[in-house]
Amino acid sequence: MEVEERLNDVLSRIRKSEKSANRSENAVSLVAVSKTFDADSIGPVIDAGQRVFGENRVQEAQSKWPALKGRTPDIELHLIGPLQSNKAADAVALFDVIETVDREKIARALAAEMKRQEREIRLYVQVNTGLEPQKAGIAPEGTGAFVTFCREELGLDIEGLMCIPPLDENPGPHFALLAKLASQCGLSRLSMGMSGDFETAIAFGATSVRVGSAIFGAR
Ligand SMILES: *Cc1c(COP(=O)(O)O)cnc(C)c1O
Repeated sequence: MEVEERLNDVLSRIRKSEKSANRSENAVSLVAVSKTFDADSIGPVIDAGQRVFGENRVQEAQSKWPALKGRTPDIELHLIGPLQSNKAADAVALFDVIETVDREKIARALAAEMKRQEREIRLYVQVNTGLEPQKAGIAPEGTGAFVTFCREELGLDIEGLMCIPPLDENPGPHFALLAKLASQCGLSRLSMGMSGDFETAIAFGATSVRVGSAIFGAR
């Protein structure tokens, strides 16, 4: 299958899952995860009409996206990997959405950079639903207080929550937990679901899914 066919297949599976979950059409948006793929592989996906992309490293994204964004200005680029505060300035300059806000230090750095660069970035808080020590994200029980801190202390407009369930577990309970936490925080956006489980995530209320290998092929 060509990359365009794989993209269209993923999009039609998203539309089908919306229907079977009684969600409205286009309730779920696709973030095409292009990490490890170069500009030559991303070009055909842009040409096929996809505009929202995800990258997990700031430096890698800097090496390919300024040129791609220059050619197609309505690209929306999401940072979906861990962010260090010394990269906050670069991240704010390049990304449109940062999905991995997970501690006070990074929230403060982002608030300061957005002000300095006069750039409004949409933000998600990442939750470590499986409490995995090697994984980024705030603990589920700390999520409410952290969202309140971001809003009240820093004046940040948090758009939603994001999670990456443990690889070896049934993702459903993790998606359900993220949805419950979001509703407790008054948030309506949920970034959850990847190539292997995006249909499940949509059934649990995902509003965006992050799909890489099902579009670009194996990494
Ligand atoms: C790589 C990655 C994805 C996409 O994973 P696939 O299994 O290739 O679809 C989604 N979310 C995050 C945070 C990632 O790092």
